[in-house]
Amino acid sequence: MKKYALIIIDIAYTKLDRPFTYRIPQGMRDRVVPGSIVTVPFGRANTLRKGYVIGLSDRSELPDAQIKEIAELQAADRSGACAAETAGSREDGADGDFWVGIAAWMSERYGSTMAVALRTVLSSGKPGKPAVHREIELRVSMEDAAALLEAFEKKHQVARARLLRELMKTPRQPYALVVSKLHIQASTVRAMRAKGILEVTEEQVLRNPVSLGEVREDRKQLSPQQQEIADAVVRDFDTGRGGVSLIRGITGSGKTEVYIAIIREIVARGRQAVMLIPEIALTYQTLLRFYQYFGDRVSVMNSSLSESEKADQRERARRGEIDVIIGPRSALFTPFPHIGVIVIDEEHESSYKNESMPKYRTADVAAEIARRKGAVVVLGSATPSLVSYERARRGEYRLYELDRRLTGGTLPQVYVADLREELRSGNRSILSRKLASLLEDRLEKGEQSMLFLNRRGTAGFVSCRSCGHVMKCPHCDVSLSLHRGGRLTCHYCGYTERMPERCPECGSPYISGFRAGTEQVEAYLHKVWPQARILRLDADTTSRKGSYEKILSAFANEEADILVGTQMIVKGHDFPGVTLVGALLADLSLYAGDYRSAERTFQLLTQAAGRAGRGTRPGEVVIQTYQPEHYAIRYAAAQDHQGFCGEEMLYRSALLYPPAGHMLAVQIQSEQEDAALSEAGRARELLSAKEGNLFLIGPAAAQISRIRDTYRFVLYIKDTDYDRLIRCKDLLEADLAERGAAGGVPPVNYQFDFDPESPY
Ligand code: ADP
Ligand code: ZN
Ligand code: ZN
Repeated sequence: MKKYALIIIDIAYTKLDRPFTYRIPQGMRDRVVPGSIVTVPFGRANTLRKGYVIGLSDRSELPDAQIKEIAELQAADRSGACAAETAGSREDGADGDFWVGIAAWMSERYGSTMAVALRTVLSSGKPGKPAVHREIELRVSMEDAAALLEAFEKKHQVARARLLRELMKTPRQPYALVVSKLHIQASTVRAMRAKGILEVTEEQVLRNPVSLGEVREDRKQLSPQQQEIADAVVRDFDTGRGGVSLIRGITGSGKTEVYIAIIREIVARGRQAVMLIPEIALTYQTLLRFYQYFGDRVSVMNSSLSESEKADQRERARRGEIDVIIGPRSALFTPFPHIGVIVIDEEHESSYKNESMPKYRTADVAAEIARRKGAVVVLGSATPSLVSYERARRGEYRLYELDRRLTGGTLPQVYVADLREELRSGNRSILSRKLASLLEDRLEKGEQSMLFLNRRGTAGFVSCRSCGHVMKCPHCDVSLSLHRGGRLTCHYCGYTERMPERCPECGSPYISGFRAGTEQVEAYLHKVWPQARILRLDADTTSRKGSYEKILSAFANEEADILVGTQMIVKGHDFPGVTLVGALLADLSLYAGDYRSAERTFQLLTQAAGRAGRGTRPGEVVIQTYQPEHYAIRYAAAQDHQGFCGEEMLYRSALLYPPAGHMLAVQIQSEQEDAALSEAGRARELLSAKEGNLFLIGPAAAQISRIRDTYRFVLYIKDTDYDRLIRCKDLLEADLAERGAAGGVPPVNYQFDFDPESPY
């Protein structure tokens, strides 16, 4: 057994981001392994700090007297330490090495410290004590239930009706799931229990947030199209070919059913599966579908779990008690012994890019994990990201299509309302005549509508309401943002100009920024249709915990006619009662000031259209815009992903934006403005001196140029060669380390972002 451990200290200080040697106390030697999280005395004052073991050694360069000892073993999350206890359920006791390797790969590829990469990959937290697992079970016959349901509905006992309806679909359900996802109060459950309608059962378990009594086996017969995809992916797994498959399939085309089929096959081969879903789309219905296939062998990881509940899930995964984990981005690092497949649903979603260090793209880390483990990766979306789609086109990913809805139901009719026309004919209200008349029609018929404002971030663009002209940067071809004091600024290169008084295109004085919010929309609707029941969902109404889901489930239960909100209302939710969707001002996201604005708008509008008419009645969609001729809007209206990608690639190629090229954002932060600025200038000079012929942009002040008294400047580097950008990053890091060693570290902090997905 090794005597020493190499440890990375969990500290946000680049200079200390290297391994330190510690002695392992006798009693810990059989348990400390790579991946272990420990507490160690550090620095002159021997302050206790968290550290990550990245390697073991028999000897050390330093004399023993100078070597400190590990104080405590916090968790052996990734280690094989417990393998002995669980009777050899794992073959590779070196699994901790695997995750340390992934952290090292991420640190190199994304330019983060090793400490922060390890923190991302190895999660701490200790498993909790066994808790009581409760389930709710329906105790009356279906006929009685139906009669009761009618009575509840008549008495407007909404919560009871909601719970009963769910139990009639699935008679036995986890208590926690019912209470949190359906927003049922404990008192409601108690009242119904008192009447003998349902029963609550309890058992002691290592907390699994969900489990269903028995696994239902009403397996769907896959369509030939679905079967072909599932077979091909499983074949890639069996032959060891591995790789990434991308499924492009409209909402409702049966992607989830394909994921389930693939996961079942691979689980049957003794391997495990990670199913990633954007947190926002982790709905009750989706979870239930997985439970119906995998029962107790599936678990969820999401932000509503406590740290110790999350640790429980990891522990169960490590022990081989579950085969499938469903969760957002971070579930990727679940310590399964033999991961076989990683599925990423709605792969285009921005939540798959980590916005703090290391700024990784989930699909790329998944591909690396899969490559090292002999696993396969499946990406799915109705509107794949340009990056993934382009890779598929180049043959790096395999592309599959699902182009029919299996439950019948037609694609919605999409109308584009030209707001310039509306202005010309004297309509200055929020709603075009088309949208207003369709809303009126839905209210009369008692069908539901959703209206959304796709506002993003703080950037305010300026456009002409007469001709639709948008003020753009002459160098970067992205929209300029309006700042206080009336200046327009480009967030890539820092170019600025004065806000014009008249449109430079048509001379109209109606040129301005936009100031419309969901609250005004709601107020306007109330005024026009006082009898309509309206729900609003935005950052204001959802700041309280759980209120987001509460509003959505109320709307899903048809407790309102109109749902007004930000773009979050169109993501991943299934409202069968909705037959009309309105994008109030598509231009809002079209001109968010970054190179991905058009892509994001296309995705959002296409996804929004997919929300209309999911039930049996056909849906209609109205896109309101000042620029109906913009290709993102035209292709969204035509639901033409391929056409959009073709045109968008022309734009990206012209300016070398990803995926035509690669882009590295170097963010330089300091509490001293001049230090940050001169450091940014130095970085630019260093790069141009050492790496000739680089496409450098900036440095410019970041969009939010100061956060918590820290000034932020950004330098962009564009190149077709990703490795060259890594070299640039290494160069800057080495320079900083060199000056640090000479005692001349300026008070600055560097952050790197490869192929950034939003502007700084
Ligand atoms: P997506 O994930 O692409 O939105 P889903 O997998 O959720 O699509 O499928 C949409 C609907 O079609 C679901 O109600 C699902 O149960 C149903 N469905 C999927 N595949 C089949 C099939 N092979 N036979 C019958 N129904 C199916
Ligand atoms: Zn104009
Ligand atoms: Zn610019």
